[in-house]
Amino acid sequence: MTKYVIITGGVLSGLGKGVTTAVLGLILKSRGLSVDICKIDPYLNVDPGLMNPYQHGEVWVTKDGYEADLDFGHYERFLDIELGRDHNITTGRIYLEVLEKERKGEYLGQTVQVIPHITDEVKRQIQEIARINHPDVLLVEIGGTTGDIEGMPFLEALRQLRMENGRENVLFVHVTLVPTLDVVGEQKTKPTQHSVKELRAIGIQPDIIVCRTTTPLLPETKAKLSLFCDVGKLDVFSNHDVESVYEVPLILDEQGLGDNILGKLNLREKGHDLKEWRRFVKRIKSLKGEVKIAVVGKYTDLKDSYISIAEALKHAGYALNHAVQIKWVESIDLEDDPGKVELLGDVDGILVPGGFGVRGSEGKILAIRYAREHGIPYLGICFGFQLAAVEFARNVLGLTGANSTELDPDTPYPVIDILPEQKKVKQMGGTMRLGEIELEIKEGTMAHRIYGKTRIGERHRHRFEVNPAFIEDFESQGMIFSAKSDGNRRMEILEIPGHPHFIATQFHPEFKSRPLRPSPVFHSFVKAAAERK
Ligand code: GLN
Repeated sequence: MTKYVIITGGVLSGLGKGVTTAVLGLILKSRGLSVDICKIDPYLNVDPGLMNPYQHGEVWVTKDGYEADLDFGHYERFLDIELGRDHNITTGRIYLEVLEKERKGEYLGQTVQVIPHITDEVKRQIQEIARINHPDVLLVEIGGTTGDIEGMPFLEALRQLRMENGRENVLFVHVTLVPTLDVVGEQKTKPTQHSVKELRAIGIQPDIIVCRTTTPLLPETKAKLSLFCDVGKLDVFSNHDVESVYEVPLILDEQGLGDNILGKLNLREKGHDLKEWRRFVKRIKSLKGEVKIAVVGKYTDLKDSYISIAEALKHAGYALNHAVQIKWVESIDLEDDPGKVELLGDVDGILVPGGFGVRGSEGKILAIRYAREHGIPYLGICFGFQLAAVEFARNVLGLTGANSTELDPDTPYPVIDILPEQKKVKQMGGTMRLGEIELEIKEGTMAHRIYGKTRIGERHRHRFEVNPAFIEDFESQGMIFSAKSDGNRRMEILEIPGHPHFIATQFHPEFKSRPLRPSPVFHSFVKAAAERK
């Protein structure tokens, strides 16, 4: 039988609840248990695919082509698993389902209400995940903060889940903030007391409290929280700031979080092995070299917009014994003042990540040209792949005004054009070319050297592609399309032989990068950058 661990958040958002959830998963997995994770996002959007990265951070793409919250990235990275679309529950999805059933007459004669119809649907979807995958433990993270109106039906559903399944089968972990006031240097417990009070008002008594703090939680702070929040002293955990997010499993495991959860859920461990992770953390804390990579993007003010790119760069660096220092370059600044491209003069590698829309695109093209002409290692991802083709068309093929039709529908040279199957798409949500697709790599190319095989799967998220009408032109001037998909119709990787390391992918390799298993193309890029120093 599957046991449930529910993770709620208190005080404010952005506390690192997603990381804490992923870490709980890793700790339980290290005890030999099978672990699955799902996320509840109480917003009305059906999925986060159409949200602005400025508001919500990056959109993660799952193997099965679902556009998910960035916490899915934490789960997949820490646990080295692949999750699917049924692992995300949003208010939008629940209501869609319930309203569809209502129209079909499945509730014939009834008044359809939040309680019990919405709450029943929430429970059904969560239990369905357990029924299909039957993990030992299913972690359920609730996005947002306790007290949010939109989160209420979910908390009510989970309260019922505990009541129906028993306390020994459903555990509540509350992740909260304990601020330290600079003036007095004291760890303040009041915000946590209030958020626990809020939870208790809806009938949920947390079993465990994990506190985000700047410095380790003091014994007197723990004692106070225990007394006022009605949890044992040993049930209060310190999740204090550490150098790397990958250290968090170690600090929580050392405090006995794994044993605590196992004890409360009556679970027996089938082993205890965080050794490999411990070695990994030791290694990443004593890296020998440093390499500086410019990431030229549009949402660089909010680091969460490019979190998977940053993590994938770090993973590659770890494997190469190098710390990756990221220089965030705002493409709109380059566009407004092209002289600023000289900002790229001190970096070892340039990366242009995925993106949408015309604003900032000329700045990215300037950066790509700089990388190509100065022999600086380049990695382009999706939009960064398409713009590399545009740059090459303009400045090597001499096709003045060449562009993507996404950016200039009237361009005389539409070297990037909408995918044929996208022409008839009217609805925007969830309709891009999404998810893992198999590619074929040409032997003897740089891509082949990097991946070491001819068939790979990588995740996609786009509507535009290299226009097949221009492929001959590109190839006549030395650009190689070294990987293709869909029976050779879609260009997936481009490279420029003769340049130290110029490669770009139509897909998003960052979604398959793991701390202990970096993405091959990121690895090769960071290696080239490190060798250039
Ligand atoms: N805007 C481009 C497209 O839709 C690139 C998308 C991306 O970078 N994810 O094809």
